[in-house]
Amino acid sequence: MTGIVDGLLDLALPRRCVLCGAAGGWLCERCAAELHPLPVQHCPRCGAPGPWSAPGQKHRAGRRCPECGGRDLAFRSAAAAFTYEGPAKALITACKFRALRSLADDMVGRASPAFAAAPAVDLVTWVPGHRDHQMERGFNQAELLGRGFARRAGVPYAPLLRRVRHGARQSGLDRAGRAANVRDAFALREEGNGVLRKLKRVMIVDDVYTTGETLDHCAGVLAHAGIEPHVFTFARTVRATPSQASLDHAVQKERCP
Ligand SMILES: [Zn+2]
Ligand SMILES: [Zn+2]
Repeated sequence: MTGIVDGLLDLALPRRCVLCGAAGGWLCERCAAELHPLPVQHCPRCGAPGPWSAPGQKHRAGRRCPECGGRDLAFRSAAAAFTYEGPAKALITACKFRALRSLADDMVGRASPAFAAAPAVDLVTWVPGHRDHQMERGFNQAELLGRGFARRAGVPYAPLLRRVRHGARQSGLDRAGRAANVRDAFALREEGNGVLRKLKRVMIVDDVYTTGETLDHCAGVLAHAGIEPHVFTFARTVRATPSQASLDHAVQKERCP
């Protein structure tokens, strides 16, 4: 019942740009132009922008990715549509707190081209929501995004994961805190077992890739079940992105000692 009422409210609500408040849609054209797609050049493993090569991979002119180079990640690849700033951040925040399906649909439309460019998979799943959090809001943003991407791409989707332990919310914790918080926090859903035997590659969808801890643990559960996990998020936090000039300089230096 709540779902129907929410749906009607969603339709009746006047849509305003989540960033500047302009009437007409969830993101006006001017603000949408400020969405930054993730650069084409990125680490094939964790998605960090730059000419990085993933651990164990030989890459021409590539250097070890500073973000995942020393880490053991359970997922095979991580792609994202936009950098987590400005309008991308505003959309995620608005969708999370206002719990509007139409907002999630808008995000799906904007990020679908990037999803189509991500590695092909047999099934799409998502990071399960916080139970209490989900009850407050009535929905899980990651699930709406995952279902939306899958429908557009014509790929099957199913909930494969569940939360085991409800740790503190990830926001506000540093990397070590986040890692400790999500350890053993996820498991396979019982009904997921039957589906898994038929699958090779699965995409795990979430709204934002921050440190990658949550997605790493979700991917670990699937990898343990013999699946090759991949990750796709609407946005990605970009830390210490080297400027093109500094990268060119570094490559030059490597070539002429
Ligand atoms: Zn705007
Ligand atoms: Zn990396």
